[in-house]
Amino acid sequence: MNGEKWLSAKAAALEQGAIRAVFDKARKMENVISMGIGEPDMPTPEPICRACAEGLAKGFTHYTPNAGLGLLREAVSRYGLPEPGLYAPHEIMITIGAMNALSLLMLVLLEPGDQVMIQDPQWLNYAAQIEYCGGVAVKLPTEPETGFALDAETVRAHYVPGKTKALLINSPNNPTGHVMTREALEKIAEVCRELDILVLSDEVYGTLVYDGAEAVSIATLPGMRERTVVINSLSKAYAMCGWRIGYAAGPEAIIDRMSKMQENFNSGANAAAQYAAAYALEHRELTEQIREAFAQRRRVALEGLKNIPGMKLVEPKGAFYLFPDIRAFGLSSKEFCDRLLEEERVVGVPGSAFGSKGEGFIRMAYTADAVKIREAMERLARFCEKRI
Ligand code: PLP
Repeated sequence: MNGEKWLSAKAAALEQGAIRAVFDKARKMENVISMGIGEPDMPTPEPICRACAEGLAKGFTHYTPNAGLGLLREAVSRYGLPEPGLYAPHEIMITIGAMNALSLLMLVLLEPGDQVMIQDPQWLNYAAQIEYCGGVAVKLPTEPETGFALDAETVRAHYVPGKTKALLINSPNNPTGHVMTREALEKIAEVCRELDILVLSDEVYGTLVYDGAEAVSIATLPGMRERTVVINSLSKAYAMCGWRIGYAAGPEAIIDRMSKMQENFNSGANAAAQYAAAYALEHRELTEQIREAFAQRRRVALEGLKNIPGMKLVEPKGAFYLFPDIRAFGLSSKEFCDRLLEEERVVGVPGSAFGSKGEGFIRMAYTADAVKIREAMERLARFCEKRI
Protein backbone atom coordinates (compact mmCIF):
# COMPACT_ATOMS: atom_id res chain seq x y z
CA MET A 1 0.00 0.00 0.00
CA ASN A 2 1.39 3.39 -0.98
CA GLY A 3 2.85 5.41 1.95
CA GLU A 4 3.25 2.44 4.26
CA LYS A 5 6.92 3.22 4.94
CA TRP A 6 6.02 6.41 6.83
CA LEU A 7 3.69 4.79 9.33
CA SER A 8 4.61 4.21 12.95
CA ALA A 9 4.82 0.53 13.89
CA LYS A 10 1.70 0.97 16.06
CA ALA A 11 -0.32 2.46 13.19
CA ALA A 12 0.93 -0.12 10.70
CA ALA A 13 -0.43 -2.84 12.99
CA LEU A 14 -3.97 -1.38 13.07
CA GLU A 15 -6.59 -3.70 11.66
CA GLN A 16 -10.21 -3.35 10.62
CA GLY A 17 -12.55 -4.54 13.38
CA ALA A 18 -14.41 -7.81 12.78
CA ILE A 19 -17.82 -6.08 12.81
CA ARG A 20 -16.91 -3.75 9.94
CA ALA A 21 -15.60 -6.72 7.96
CA VAL A 22 -18.99 -8.47 8.19
CA PHE A 23 -20.77 -5.30 7.03
CA ASP A 24 -18.44 -4.88 4.08
CA LYS A 25 -19.27 -8.37 2.92
CA ALA A 26 -23.03 -7.87 3.40
CA ARG A 27 -23.00 -4.59 1.50
CA LYS A 28 -22.24 -6.44 -1.71
CA MET A 29 -25.32 -8.69 -1.35
CA GLU A 30 -29.04 -8.15 -1.95
CA ASN A 31 -32.05 -8.85 0.28
CA VAL A 32 -29.93 -8.78 3.43
CA ILE A 33 -31.44 -8.26 6.90
CA SER A 34 -28.89 -6.81 9.26
CA MET A 35 -28.94 -7.77 12.89
CA GLY A 36 -25.34 -6.70 13.00
CA ILE A 37 -25.39 -3.02 13.65
CA GLY A 38 -25.19 -1.45 17.12
CA GLU A 39 -27.15 1.64 16.22
CA PRO A 40 -30.84 2.58 16.57
CA ASP A 41 -32.38 2.65 13.09
CA MET A 42 -35.00 5.27 13.99
CA PRO A 43 -34.39 8.96 13.30
CA THR A 44 -33.45 11.35 16.10
CA PRO A 45 -36.67 12.73 17.68
CA GLU A 46 -37.73 15.79 15.76
CA PRO A 47 -37.72 18.30 18.63
CA ILE A 48 -34.00 17.65 19.08
CA CYS A 49 -33.37 18.36 15.40
CA ARG A 50 -35.34 21.59 15.76
CA ALA A 51 -33.27 22.55 18.79
CA CYS A 52 -30.14 22.10 16.69
CA ALA A 53 -31.52 24.44 14.00
CA GLU A 54 -32.31 26.93 16.75
CA GLY A 55 -28.73 26.60 18.07
CA LEU A 56 -27.34 27.38 14.63
CA ALA A 57 -29.66 30.40 14.29
CA LYS A 58 -28.53 31.65 17.69
CA GLY A 59 -24.89 31.54 16.61
CA PHE A 60 -23.66 28.31 18.12
CA THR A 61 -21.30 28.03 15.18
CA HIS A 62 -18.02 28.76 16.96
CA TYR A 63 -15.50 26.72 18.88
CA THR A 64 -16.81 25.87 22.31
CA PRO A 65 -14.68 25.56 25.45
CA ASN A 66 -12.60 22.35 25.26
CA ALA A 67 -14.66 20.85 28.07
CA GLY A 68 -17.89 21.70 26.25
CA LEU A 69 -20.64 24.33 26.51
CA GLY A 70 -21.44 25.40 30.07
CA LEU A 71 -25.16 24.98 29.41
CA LEU A 72 -24.64 21.36 28.37
CA ARG A 73 -22.38 20.54 31.32
CA GLU A 74 -25.15 21.96 33.54
CA ALA A 75 -27.75 19.83 31.78
CA VAL A 76 -25.60 16.71 32.14
CA SER A 77 -25.14 17.41 35.86
CA ARG A 78 -28.89 17.76 36.35
CA TYR A 79 -30.35 15.21 33.98
CA GLY A 80 -27.63 13.05 32.46
CA LEU A 81 -26.13 11.32 35.50
CA PRO A 82 -27.18 8.25 37.46
CA GLU A 83 -28.34 10.67 40.20
CA PRO A 84 -29.03 14.38 39.70
CA GLY A 85 -25.96 16.42 40.72
CA LEU A 86 -23.80 13.35 41.41
CA TYR A 87 -21.02 15.29 39.66
CA ALA A 88 -20.90 19.10 39.41
CA PRO A 89 -20.49 20.81 36.02
CA HIS A 90 -16.74 21.31 36.60
CA GLU A 91 -16.42 17.53 37.05
CA ILE A 92 -18.00 16.90 33.64
CA MET A 93 -16.63 17.24 30.14
CA ILE A 94 -18.39 16.96 26.80
CA THR A 95 -16.81 14.64 24.25
CA ILE A 96 -17.22 13.49 20.66
CA GLY A 97 -19.34 10.50 21.61
CA ALA A 98 -18.48 8.09 24.39
CA MET A 99 -15.60 6.81 22.26
CA ASN A 100 -13.79 10.12 22.58
CA ALA A 101 -14.36 10.09 26.36
CA LEU A 102 -12.82 6.60 26.51
CA SER A 103 -9.85 7.46 24.32
CA LEU A 104 -9.10 10.66 26.27
CA LEU A 105 -9.23 8.61 29.45
CA MET A 106 -6.70 6.12 28.15
CA LEU A 107 -4.47 8.98 27.03
CA VAL A 108 -4.45 10.68 30.43
CA LEU A 109 -4.40 7.58 32.66
CA LEU A 110 -1.98 5.09 31.19
CA GLU A 111 1.75 4.69 31.69
CA PRO A 112 3.38 1.98 29.56
CA GLY A 113 2.46 -1.42 30.96
CA ASP A 114 -0.45 -0.18 33.11
CA GLN A 115 -3.24 -2.72 33.22
CA VAL A 116 -6.92 -2.04 32.65
CA MET A 117 -9.31 -4.90 33.40
CA ILE A 118 -12.15 -5.40 30.94
CA GLN A 119 -14.88 -8.01 30.67
CA ASP A 120 -14.62 -10.92 28.23
CA PRO A 121 -16.67 -10.97 26.04
CA GLN A 122 -16.73 -7.22 25.57
CA TRP A 123 -17.11 -4.49 22.96
CA LEU A 124 -14.08 -4.54 20.66
CA ASN A 125 -12.75 -1.03 20.87
CA TYR A 126 -11.73 -0.97 24.54
CA ALA A 127 -8.75 -3.28 24.10
CA ALA A 128 -7.64 -1.44 20.96
CA GLN A 129 -7.68 1.92 22.74
CA ILE A 130 -5.91 0.63 25.84
CA GLU A 131 -3.19 -1.05 23.82
CA TYR A 132 -2.65 1.90 21.50
CA CYS A 133 -2.04 4.05 24.58
CA GLY A 134 0.62 1.65 25.88
CA GLY A 135 -1.57 -0.16 28.40
CA VAL A 136 -2.46 -3.81 28.73
CA ALA A 137 -6.09 -4.93 28.50
CA VAL A 138 -6.57 -7.72 31.01
CA LYS A 139 -9.61 -9.82 30.11
CA LEU A 140 -11.85 -10.92 32.94
CA PRO A 141 -13.68 -14.09 31.93
CA THR A 142 -17.46 -14.19 32.36
CA GLU A 143 -19.61 -17.28 31.88
CA PRO A 144 -22.75 -17.98 29.85
CA GLU A 145 -24.36 -19.89 32.75
CA THR A 146 -24.67 -16.60 34.68
CA GLY A 147 -25.65 -14.59 31.60
CA PHE A 148 -22.04 -13.29 31.50
CA ALA A 149 -22.16 -11.64 34.93
CA LEU A 150 -18.86 -10.24 36.21
CA ASP A 151 -17.88 -11.64 39.56
CA ALA A 152 -15.98 -9.60 42.20
CA GLU A 153 -13.66 -12.50 42.95
CA THR A 154 -12.56 -12.53 39.29
CA VAL A 155 -11.63 -8.85 39.65
CA ARG A 156 -9.62 -9.63 42.77
CA ALA A 157 -7.87 -12.59 41.14
CA HIS A 158 -6.66 -10.45 38.22
CA TYR A 159 -5.38 -7.56 40.32
CA VAL A 160 -1.61 -7.03 40.07
CA PRO A 161 -0.14 -4.65 42.66
CA GLY A 162 1.58 -1.66 41.03
CA LYS A 163 0.21 -2.59 37.59
CA THR A 164 -3.58 -2.60 37.76
CA LYS A 165 -4.88 0.91 37.32
CA ALA A 166 -8.51 0.61 36.41
CA LEU A 167 -11.50 -1.63 35.92
CA LEU A 168 -13.63 -0.81 32.89
CA ILE A 169 -17.19 -2.08 33.13
CA ASN A 170 -20.10 -1.81 30.75
CA SER A 171 -23.63 -2.39 31.98
CA PRO A 172 -26.02 -2.87 30.19
CA ASN A 173 -23.48 -4.71 28.13
CA ASN A 174 -22.42 -4.87 24.53
CA PRO A 175 -22.39 -7.64 23.28
CA THR A 176 -24.19 -9.76 25.90
CA GLY A 177 -27.07 -7.47 26.95
CA HIS A 178 -26.29 -8.39 30.56
CA VAL A 179 -27.31 -5.88 33.24
CA MET A 180 -25.18 -6.01 36.39
CA THR A 181 -27.21 -6.37 39.57
CA ARG A 182 -26.86 -4.05 42.55
CA GLU A 183 -25.51 -6.93 44.65
CA ALA A 184 -22.82 -7.78 42.09
CA LEU A 185 -21.81 -4.13 41.81
CA GLU A 186 -21.64 -3.75 45.59
CA LYS A 187 -19.19 -6.64 45.79
CA ILE A 188 -17.12 -5.28 42.91
CA ALA A 189 -17.11 -1.83 44.54
CA GLU A 190 -15.84 -3.35 47.77
CA VAL A 191 -12.87 -4.93 45.96
CA CYS A 192 -12.10 -1.67 44.12
CA ARG A 193 -12.11 0.34 47.35
CA GLU A 194 -9.94 -2.20 49.10
CA LEU A 195 -7.38 -2.47 46.27
CA ASP A 196 -7.57 1.22 45.28
CA ILE A 197 -8.76 0.56 41.72
CA LEU A 198 -10.25 3.32 39.58
CA VAL A 199 -13.52 2.34 37.88
CA LEU A 200 -14.47 3.44 34.38
CA SER A 201 -18.19 2.85 33.97
CA ASP A 202 -19.48 2.91 30.39
CA GLU A 203 -23.22 3.53 30.71
CA VAL A 204 -24.18 4.24 27.10
CA TYR A 205 -27.02 1.69 27.23
CA GLY A 206 -28.25 2.87 30.65
CA THR A 207 -31.75 3.85 29.49
CA LEU A 208 -32.30 0.58 27.61
CA VAL A 209 -33.47 -1.92 30.23
CA TYR A 210 -36.50 -4.23 30.13
CA ASP A 211 -38.73 -6.47 32.21
CA GLY A 212 -38.33 -4.27 35.29
CA ALA A 213 -34.51 -4.45 35.33
CA GLU A 214 -32.69 -1.50 36.86
CA ALA A 215 -29.44 -0.11 35.47
CA VAL A 216 -27.53 0.67 38.66
CA SER A 217 -24.41 2.82 38.35
CA ILE A 218 -21.44 1.83 40.47
CA ALA A 219 -20.76 5.57 40.95
CA THR A 220 -23.83 5.80 43.21
CA LEU A 221 -22.53 3.23 45.71
CA PRO A 222 -20.87 4.39 48.94
CA GLY A 223 -17.29 5.63 48.50
CA MET A 224 -17.39 5.14 44.72
CA ARG A 225 -18.17 8.62 43.33
CA GLU A 226 -14.58 9.70 43.99
CA ARG A 227 -13.05 6.67 42.27
CA THR A 228 -15.37 6.34 39.28
CA VAL A 229 -15.49 8.01 35.90
CA VAL A 230 -18.94 7.66 34.33
CA ILE A 231 -18.92 7.59 30.54
CA ASN A 232 -22.11 8.15 28.64
CA SER A 233 -23.49 9.56 25.40
CA LEU A 234 -26.67 10.47 23.60
CA SER A 235 -25.98 7.99 20.78
CA LYS A 236 -28.11 5.05 21.88
CA ALA A 237 -30.52 6.68 24.33
CA TYR A 238 -31.76 9.35 21.88
CA ALA A 239 -30.93 7.72 18.52
CA MET A 240 -28.17 10.28 18.04
CA CYS A 241 -25.18 8.15 17.01
CA GLY A 242 -24.23 10.44 14.16
CA TRP A 243 -24.32 13.60 16.27
CA ARG A 244 -21.25 12.44 18.17
CA ILE A 245 -22.07 13.86 21.60
CA GLY A 246 -20.93 12.09 24.74
CA TYR A 247 -19.57 12.99 28.14
CA ALA A 248 -17.41 11.91 31.03
CA ALA A 249 -18.05 12.73 34.70
CA GLY A 250 -15.55 11.97 37.41
CA PRO A 251 -12.76 13.18 39.69
CA GLU A 252 -11.81 16.77 38.86
CA ALA A 253 -8.11 16.20 38.07
CA ILE A 254 -8.94 13.51 35.52
CA ILE A 255 -11.62 15.62 33.82
CA ASP A 256 -9.30 18.63 33.82
CA ARG A 257 -6.48 16.73 32.05
CA MET A 258 -8.93 15.17 29.59
CA SER A 259 -10.04 18.70 28.64
CA LYS A 260 -6.41 19.74 28.17
CA MET A 261 -5.83 16.69 26.02
CA GLN A 262 -8.96 17.60 24.01
CA GLU A 263 -7.47 21.05 23.41
CA ASN A 264 -4.47 19.45 21.73
CA PHE A 265 -6.20 16.71 19.78
CA ASN A 266 -9.77 17.62 18.73
CA SER A 267 -10.61 21.00 20.25
CA GLY A 268 -14.10 19.84 21.15
CA ALA A 269 -17.48 18.54 20.09
CA ASN A 270 -19.75 20.19 17.51
CA ALA A 271 -21.27 23.40 18.93
CA ALA A 272 -24.83 23.20 17.56
CA ALA A 273 -25.01 19.50 18.40
CA GLN A 274 -24.04 20.35 21.98
CA TYR A 275 -26.83 22.92 22.11
CA ALA A 276 -29.33 20.31 20.89
CA ALA A 277 -27.96 17.75 23.35
CA ALA A 278 -28.79 20.09 26.24
CA TYR A 279 -32.37 20.21 24.97
CA ALA A 280 -32.44 16.42 24.70
CA LEU A 281 -31.22 15.92 28.27
CA GLU A 282 -33.83 18.36 29.54
CA HIS A 283 -36.45 16.16 27.83
CA ARG A 284 -35.63 12.73 29.23
CA GLU A 285 -39.10 11.53 28.25
CA LEU A 286 -37.81 11.29 24.65
CA THR A 287 -35.68 8.29 25.66
CA GLU A 288 -38.79 6.39 26.74
CA GLN A 289 -40.21 6.23 23.17
CA ILE A 290 -36.95 4.71 22.01
CA ARG A 291 -36.77 2.24 24.89
CA GLU A 292 -40.36 1.19 24.22
CA ALA A 293 -39.59 0.56 20.53
CA PHE A 294 -36.67 -1.68 21.52
CA ALA A 295 -38.73 -3.45 24.17
CA GLN A 296 -41.23 -4.46 21.48
CA ARG A 297 -38.51 -5.61 19.06
CA ARG A 298 -36.84 -7.54 21.83
CA ARG A 299 -40.05 -9.48 22.45
CA VAL A 300 -40.27 -10.37 18.76
CA ALA A 301 -36.64 -11.48 18.63
CA LEU A 302 -36.90 -13.53 21.83
CA GLU A 303 -40.08 -15.21 20.65
CA GLY A 304 -38.38 -16.15 17.38
CA LEU A 305 -35.25 -17.50 19.06
CA LYS A 306 -37.17 -19.55 21.58
CA ASN A 307 -38.77 -21.53 18.78
CA ILE A 308 -35.44 -22.59 17.25
CA PRO A 309 -34.41 -26.06 18.43
CA GLY A 310 -30.79 -26.12 19.65
CA MET A 311 -30.57 -22.37 20.21
CA LYS A 312 -29.97 -21.50 23.87
CA LEU A 313 -30.24 -18.13 25.51
CA VAL A 314 -30.16 -16.56 28.95
CA GLU A 315 -32.60 -13.67 28.35
CA PRO A 316 -30.57 -10.47 28.54
CA LYS A 317 -32.29 -7.53 30.20
CA GLY A 318 -30.57 -4.59 28.57
CA ALA A 319 -29.04 -2.79 25.57
CA PHE A 320 -30.35 -4.02 22.20
CA TYR A 321 -28.44 -7.25 21.79
CA LEU A 322 -29.15 -10.94 22.13
CA PHE A 323 -26.19 -13.26 22.52
CA PRO A 324 -27.48 -16.78 21.88
CA ASP A 325 -25.46 -19.96 22.33
CA ILE A 326 -24.90 -21.66 18.97
CA ARG A 327 -22.64 -24.48 20.18
CA ALA A 328 -25.24 -27.14 19.32
CA PHE A 329 -24.74 -26.51 15.60
CA GLY A 330 -21.14 -27.68 15.33
CA LEU A 331 -19.80 -24.53 13.71
CA SER A 332 -17.46 -21.86 15.05
CA SER A 333 -19.18 -18.51 15.57
CA LYS A 334 -17.37 -17.10 12.53
CA GLU A 335 -18.39 -20.05 10.32
CA PHE A 336 -21.95 -19.76 11.62
CA CYS A 337 -22.17 -16.05 10.74
CA ASP A 338 -20.46 -16.46 7.36
CA ARG A 339 -22.81 -19.26 6.32
CA LEU A 340 -25.87 -17.53 7.74
CA LEU A 341 -25.06 -14.54 5.59
CA GLU A 342 -24.31 -16.59 2.49
CA GLU A 343 -27.30 -18.95 2.75
CA GLU A 344 -29.98 -16.80 4.38
CA ARG A 345 -28.75 -13.23 3.98
CA VAL A 346 -28.90 -12.43 7.70
CA VAL A 347 -26.09 -10.50 9.37
CA GLY A 348 -25.01 -11.48 12.88
CA VAL A 349 -21.63 -10.88 14.50
CA PRO A 350 -19.45 -13.80 15.64
CA GLY A 351 -19.04 -13.88 19.41
CA SER A 352 -15.34 -14.56 18.98
CA ALA A 353 -14.98 -10.95 17.79
CA PHE A 354 -15.65 -9.88 21.39
CA GLY A 355 -13.05 -12.06 23.09
CA SER A 356 -12.29 -15.74 23.55
CA LYS A 357 -15.24 -16.17 25.95
CA GLY A 358 -17.55 -15.12 23.13
CA GLU A 359 -16.73 -18.17 21.00
CA GLY A 360 -19.79 -20.38 20.63
CA PHE A 361 -22.14 -17.36 20.63
CA ILE A 362 -23.36 -14.81 18.11
CA ARG A 363 -24.49 -11.24 18.67
CA MET A 364 -27.84 -10.33 17.18
CA ALA A 365 -28.79 -6.66 17.42
CA TYR A 366 -32.54 -5.99 17.38
CA THR A 367 -32.01 -2.63 15.75
CA ALA A 368 -34.11 -3.36 12.66
CA ASP A 369 -37.92 -2.95 12.68
CA ALA A 370 -40.15 -5.73 14.02
CA VAL A 371 -41.19 -7.00 10.56
CA LYS A 372 -37.56 -7.45 9.54
CA ILE A 373 -36.68 -9.07 12.85
CA ARG A 374 -39.51 -11.59 12.45
CA GLU A 375 -38.32 -12.42 8.94
CA ALA A 376 -34.68 -12.70 10.14
CA MET A 377 -35.78 -15.15 12.84
CA GLU A 378 -37.59 -17.28 10.27
CA ARG A 379 -34.48 -17.37 8.11
CA LEU A 380 -32.33 -18.20 11.15
CA ALA A 381 -34.70 -21.02 12.10
CA ARG A 382 -34.46 -22.48 8.58
CA PHE A 383 -30.66 -22.27 8.74
CA CYS A 384 -30.51 -23.96 12.14
CA GLU A 385 -33.00 -26.71 11.31
CA LYS A 386 -30.69 -27.94 8.57
CA ARG A 387 -27.94 -28.43 11.12
CA ILE A 388 -29.48 -29.97 14.16
N1 PLP B 1 -19.51 1.99 24.49
C1 PLP B 1 -20.14 0.89 24.06
C2 PLP B 1 -20.27 -0.26 24.98
C3 PLP B 1 -20.68 0.82 22.77
O1 PLP B 1 -21.30 -0.28 22.37
C4 PLP B 1 -20.53 1.94 21.91
C5 PLP B 1 -21.03 1.89 20.53
O2 PLP B 1 -21.39 0.89 19.99
C6 PLP B 1 -19.86 3.07 22.41
C7 PLP B 1 -19.37 3.06 23.69
C8 PLP B 1 -19.64 4.28 21.55
O3 PLP B 1 -20.66 5.17 21.66
P1 PLP B 1 -20.60 6.62 21.02
O4 PLP B 1 -21.43 6.59 19.78
O5 PLP B 1 -21.19 7.50 22.06
O6 PLP B 1 -19.17 6.96 20.75
